[in-house]
Amino acid sequence: MAAAPKRVRGKVALVTGAASGIGRATALLLADEGATVLATDLDAAGAARSAAAIRAAGGAADARALDVANEASWQAAVGAVRDAFGSLDILVNNAGISHARPVTDTPLEEWRRVMAVNLDGVLLGLKHGIRVMRETGGGVIVNVSSASGVKASAGAAAYCASKAAVRMLARVAALECAAAGDRIRINTVLPGGVKTPMWEGMDFFAELTRHEGVEGAWRAVQQGTPGGRFAEPEEVARAILFLASDEASYVNGAELAVDYGLTAS
Ligand code: NAD
Repeated sequence: MAAAPKRVRGKVALVTGAASGIGRATALLLADEGATVLATDLDAAGAARSAAAIRAAGGAADARALDVANEASWQAAVGAVRDAFGSLDILVNNAGISHARPVTDTPLEEWRRVMAVNLDGVLLGLKHGIRVMRETGGGVIVNVSSASGVKASAGAAAYCASKAAVRMLARVAALECAAAGDRIRINTVLPGGVKTPMWEGMDFFAELTRHEGVEGAWRAVQQGTPGGRFAEPEEVARAILFLASDEASYVNGAELAVDYGLTAS
């Protein structure tokens, strides 16, 4: 039997937050499906490790530092892609940080940092991604929001607010591109819980780990989730791949829940 055709063959993809978790899984999957991937992250060494893993598996990848909250950093990264490859076909706005504090206990500095990474980061990615895609004939942007942008969680004020704003921002951008006649599709995935290092960095996870060990902490946070478990990062990456591929050629301004029904109720 002939091998299945590669789903993003010949495309050039930039993934933010590609050093870890969903971003890393997405970078590896896009490369496996034929894309040339620029793995970017605030953690430059981590992005380089993701790119090295892609190359070791026979794929094409490079890495560079990109702080999504910094406009000059975006301009440099997008310019580098255009100069090196002539186009940017796929942009995955994935980088994000968690934050678990209630409204009354949210320092303004921390609120601003969450918004800077989770929301400004997506705005800047859309702004500079769309500009280069307009110049080079179109493309696809996939944003990573969250079920937390749909379903409120007490104690996660900044995170939920940032992720809800990403959903609306993406829809506005999709309409603007459609109205301008750009061949640019913009969609958003809304993951539920995903088994990534993001959780391990949270204070309450560290507290659970102290009492129950790492395995026990993972069991505790997954308790009661639909399906009884969190997603693996690859399960979210496959949804991103679908939206990034031509299989989703008429999907625009849409939101795809990858949460096993968490937001269905
Ligand atoms: P992760 O912590 O494993 O990876 C996030 C990556 O983003 C890290 O490599 C980090 O260095 C990078 N990053 C942080 N700040 C950055 C910045 N300013 N510029 C560039 N890179 C930066 O987390 P993850 O779980 O893979 O999260 C990826 C995305 O998925 C985030 O937007 C997150 O909000 C979203 N998400 C995660 C879950 C979950 O349960 N893990 C659920 C829903 C949505």
